[in-house]
Amino acid sequence: MITFPVKTNAKEELIDITTEVEKAVRESKVKDGVCYIYTPHTTAAITINENADPDVRRDMIKGLAHLNFESVRFAHIEGNSPAHLKSSIIGCSEFVLVENGSLSLGTWQGIYFCEFDGPRNRKVYVAVK
Ligand code: ZN
Repeated sequence: MITFPVKTNAKEELIDITTEVEKAVRESKVKDGVCYIYTPHTTAAITINENADPDVRRDMIKGLAHLNFESVRFAHIEGNSPAHLKSSIIGCSEFVLVENGSLSLGTWQGIYFCEFDGPRNRKVYVAVK
């Protein structure tokens, strides 16, 4: 397993981690298999989406805000239940098939770390099997 840090700079943002995941795949020396990307946090997530237009990332944050969790009176004392819900909706892991030592991503796909309760120092785990 390979671990790398992600430093987030905003309360909510999507950070492109495709380059770091590709590096982990190269280091694994696996030619054909599966790459698992996982983050061990309860207010963050991992997703795969468009990497061409940065507006898509911003729109994802904007769209999730329309769920309007901030208007709900949650019990959790820490006050970050909206971030916990977004983490579970998006999910804390993804996988991508590895073929010929490369991630089989589509032309317009990138792998994103999703921060929902930043800024924080986060971690991502990558395993290639
Ligand atoms: Zn909490």
